[in-house]
Amino acid sequence: MNTAQNARLRSGDIPQLAKQLLRDVFGLKAFRGHQQAVIEHVAGGGDALVLMPTGGGKSLCYQLPALLRKQAGKGTTVVVSPLIALMQDQVVALEQLGVRAAVLNSTLTQREARDTEQALAAGELDLLYLAPERLGNDYCLSLLERSTIGLFAIDEAHCVSQWGHDFRPEYLKLSMLHERFPSVPRIALTATADPQTRQEIIERLALNDAQIFVSSFDRPNIRYQIVDKKEPRAQLLKFLRDGHDAEAGIVYCLSRNKVEETAEFLCKQGIDALPYHAGLDLAIRSHNQQRFQRDEAVVIVATIAFGMGIDKPDVRFVAHLDLPKSMEGYYQETGRAGRDGEPAIAWMTYGLADVVQQRRLIDQSEADETFKRVSTAKLDALLGLCETAGCRRVRLLGYFGEVYSGQGEGSEARCGNCDNCLWPPQTWDATEASRKLLSCIYRTGQRFGAGHLIDVLLGDPNERVKRWHHDELSVFGIGREFDANEWRSIIRQLIAMAHLQVDHEAFGAIKLTASSRQLLKGELEVRLRRSAAKPAAERSGRSTRKGSSGARKSSAAATGLSEHHQSIFERLRQWRTEQARAQSLPPYVILHDSVLRAIAENEPASLADLSSISGIGATKLERYGDAILSVLAT
Ligand code: ADP
Ligand code: ZN
Repeated sequence: MNTAQNARLRSGDIPQLAKQLLRDVFGLKAFRGHQQAVIEHVAGGGDALVLMPTGGGKSLCYQLPALLRKQAGKGTTVVVSPLIALMQDQVVALEQLGVRAAVLNSTLTQREARDTEQALAAGELDLLYLAPERLGNDYCLSLLERSTIGLFAIDEAHCVSQWGHDFRPEYLKLSMLHERFPSVPRIALTATADPQTRQEIIERLALNDAQIFVSSFDRPNIRYQIVDKKEPRAQLLKFLRDGHDAEAGIVYCLSRNKVEETAEFLCKQGIDALPYHAGLDLAIRSHNQQRFQRDEAVVIVATIAFGMGIDKPDVRFVAHLDLPKSMEGYYQETGRAGRDGEPAIAWMTYGLADVVQQRRLIDQSEADETFKRVSTAKLDALLGLCETAGCRRVRLLGYFGEVYSGQGEGSEARCGNCDNCLWPPQTWDATEASRKLLSCIYRTGQRFGAGHLIDVLLGDPNERVKRWHHDELSVFGIGREFDANEWRSIIRQLIAMAHLQVDHEAFGAIKLTASSRQLLKGELEVRLRRSAAKPAAERSGRSTRKGSSGARKSSAAATGLSEHHQSIFERLRQWRTEQARAQSLPPYVILHDSVLRAIAENEPASLADLSSISGIGATKLERYGDAILSVLAT
């Protein structure tokens, strides 16, 4: 990087210089969302709090000002980040762009640490990534005081929140940055959206004068899809086979056992799946995580212990075999898909047992009543998302207080990229069916679970039914117009709508509620989703690929390329794999899929053509330009 030492950074020049660096160093054509405003504000010396969803492009918000400030002689940017693995990845990616970046954390030898410290003091670094615990020690602080610091960037700023999942006590000390370095601007960044956390960050990091940049939390490239749970494993397999088995993805399960069983099942089906949960040996866990991070098509089957620290941009799907606890959980977990902005799918199977199980976990927890009430409300919001016949995205964003501005308005608003928008579910008047069910519950004494109730409704004279003399009731066999699965779906939806409740003290007996009485009396109507089985290819949103010989290839349908361009894309991918191996780097650090796709589509004939493609900056052009052109020429 050319540094024009001591050049002045006049605010009028910033926009121009920022655009130039965006193009030359990062190889990008335009800013996204609030990036430009944030960058200009911070480069000019202002404090900022940036709230942007995962994949929104937070890194650029401090990396670009870092270069601007360094070039103007303002010093090095210090980035505080809680995750060692992430720091390392960022530094490697920056080096690929020709930026001088380094890290100081506990993984370094003394010698390496000393070299980095010297480089910092000598003003030879554009960015320094630092573990937060270092900032607590005097040695490190005096090092910073001896060096010229141009900006502090505090990544994952929600780690200061004591109520959040990711609380880091060391983060509380970061407020002293303001006291020790009053003239150095600070930028704090997070993907956590809720207002309480935002307030906590401002208070604890003393960011009262910071300008706040709040982005939409929509992730337009993620397609939401929630399907009725029938045979979850078979459904998962089908989902994978419908064009996702050559892709990297995460499958979430609730328990460790289920993680292991599912991973084993997928492996037997020839899918490269690995388990991950907190009960596994540390060595196995890090090995599996490493493989996921480095390879292109590993499926990781995990509990929610797998999450924080996953910075893989090309995760193409997140599949839930079990229901998360809340909308927050669902948003965070699904948010790990598609950080690179390319199409990705959040897929979930959901059934009656999930509702019952999650309610039981809350009821039987040791927590106090307030906590239980809050947890129940959070779960109910998620159930609402599962049961809605309207747009999932509208519902999801609405929960976080955001009014989605897609097509249509109010309850008619649509995103066009969720299952309900793409294949609108039919609803039907289920008032009569609900009444039959409620009568059955009432007549059998509100003491039985779904299985028994369904037997009675279907008129199955089995031993249990006879023992209780339920075959003699008027409700015996009154529900034969539906099958067991349909009744299950009706029960589930009525529970989710609070027209029924599950009593866990009484072994999951289903009971009536206040509103069920209204329903019985004919004062209420209910409309339910029809659980229609849609053609698999259509449901998954991609065409089915024939044969499994090319398990490692991504389908043409998936990438949207013509066959000719697809074959170029595959060649480029192969070349990238070799490059990645040779440099022991993850492939996406070399070039993202989206860049390879753009190259395949445009078939640039010269270095100049190649440089006009988004994602090809000066350094990448120099390093890989000729190699890419020769791949194209073959
Ligand atoms: P975050 O940290 O907010 O999750 P990142 O900073 O990792 O997101 O960026 C996500 C992806 O978006 C990266 O692949 C990055 O290269 C890309 N990106 C960021 N800004 C732009 C932009 N202005 N134009 C094109 N791609 C961008
Ligand atoms: Zn939608």
